[in-house]
Amino acid sequence: MDLADRARGFLILHESADFCDDCLGKALGITAEQARTIVEGLAKSPAILRDRWTCKSCRQHTMVTRAVPNATFALGRRSRNRLGRTA
Ligand SMILES: [Zn+2]
Repeated sequence: MDLADRARGFLILHESADFCDDCLGKALGITAEQARTIVEGLAKSPAILRDRWTCKSCRQHTMVTRAVPNATFALGRRSRNRLGRTA
């Protein structure tokens, strides 16, 4: 599992919660710079949103990243339905 997968997993686990690069880095055991590079990549996906907001963890108003609940839910439901049909 690479860092991008771990970061995405963390965000999806805490979906609709916002985390700044510092807190994301701390949560994943990497630097804020590494975290920023990773989430900038993840934010190309519609399921991951990057915006100026309040970090859930440190309450700083800064650039944060979050997993969009509807997008992750829709993806999950779609794959579950597909599995259900083939089973
Ligand atoms: Zn923070």
